[in-house]
Amino acid sequence: MRIVVVGAGMAGVQTAVALRDQGHEGEVLLLGAEPHQPYDRPPLSKDVLLGKAEHSRFDIDFPGRGIELLLGRRATGLDPVRRVLGTDGGELEYDRLVLATGARPVALPGQSARTHLLRTHDDAVALKGALRPGARIVVVGAGWIGAEAATVARRLGCEVTVVEAAPVPLAGALPAEVTEGMRGWYAEAGVELRTGAAVGGIVDGDVRLEGDPGATVLLTDGTELGADAVVVGIGARPDTGWLDGSGIVLDDRGAIAADDRLRTSAEGVLAVGDCASFPSARYRTRLMVHHWDNAVQGARVAAANALGGEQQYDPVPYFWSEQFGRMVQYAGHHCPGDTLLRRGDPEAADWSALWLRDGVPVALLAVDRPRDLVQGRRLLERRTPLDPALTADPAVQLKAA
Ligand code: FAD
Repeated sequence: MRIVVVGAGMAGVQTAVALRDQGHEGEVLLLGAEPHQPYDRPPLSKDVLLGKAEHSRFDIDFPGRGIELLLGRRATGLDPVRRVLGTDGGELEYDRLVLATGARPVALPGQSARTHLLRTHDDAVALKGALRPGARIVVVGAGWIGAEAATVARRLGCEVTVVEAAPVPLAGALPAEVTEGMRGWYAEAGVELRTGAAVGGIVDGDVRLEGDPGATVLLTDGTELGADAVVVGIGARPDTGWLDGSGIVLDDRGAIAADDRLRTSAEGVLAVGDCASFPSARYRTRLMVHHWDNAVQGARVAAANALGGEQQYDPVPYFWSEQFGRMVQYAGHHCPGDTLLRRGDPEAADWSALWLRDGVPVALLAVDRPRDLVQGRRLLERRTPLDPALTADPAVQLKAA
């Protein structure tokens, strides 16, 4: 049986490895559009950008594991009836197909030559070259990527301004009551944070300095920010455009709408990682999770089910971010209306926050409190009710009521 995996990021690579771990002896083909050996993304905005690591390649012996790598090869279309994948290097037949094409960063219209996205190894190398001491760096977006890029740029001695359209940082991920206090992290690091500021355009050259080779970020309120480089971190969308016409059902965010076994609408085709969404029985909603842990956990389930298994995928989502000298970790999934319970003073060096629904924790945010994360994640998985008074005391270990 030939299993083709499209996308050689974390989800695709882990699926290919899991197929072997789970005893598949037939062919495994792993197709990746990028020419590089497969690599991990989180280090790109951390050690690779900082210059502590040259690359973040996976330490996997692909030939030794019987995984045929087809790099620099892009899938261009799919005919699930004939079980044929179209690629820029010709057609490939498959018995089972796993889609793991990840996400593409959202770009601003009319970007200048000084504009950088941060998704690929090549992006990180290009941006690193611009992060020279004293360089003026404007980061558009105070989300996860923007915060990490700003952290590194500042550590490398750049002058950093972060422009965010929302009134607070991380507005897309967390409620304002939690993120409001994070403003101080920017100030403390010497980063200027301009919230409620929309970017109207970016043009080549500093319009205020004749002959300057930089760029100007034009804000809609008329402000002009001179920049030697601009980093755009305003989100990512599932990379699924190439499936147009294939009949594979997408959800309203453009993610491949998988079922709770990560199977798509086409027979023999599964989807995993950033490119897919799945119905969460635990949270009673469809989740699209753009984080590393989902790519790793989902891959094992996708591999098992590609081999005929019936494993349900119902994770407690998890991610981490390293920003402004802090380790920020989140597990679970909260909704507006869930009760926020603080654990520790948000002005302190470390604190946590939990979200409860009917006394049961549904999500946890931990800032430099890894033990809370580990203990809380267990409670989230088991849906263990908590005593709010005890939980609010950071000196007491997180445990069941
Ligand atoms: P991807 O990693 O995007 O891999 C998909 C691959 O498919 C890509 O290599 C792409 O080139 C390829 N592809 C796309 N289309 C085609 C096609 N048509 N044919 C062939 N190949 C194709 N998460 C965390 O939890 N914590 C972090 O600290 C963190 N840091 C991050 C830092 C950065 C800079 C980035 C970009 C992401 C970070 N993430 C982090 C998110 C995490 O890396 C992603 O969730 C994870 O990489 C998703 O893996 P994936 O395999 O689904 O997608």
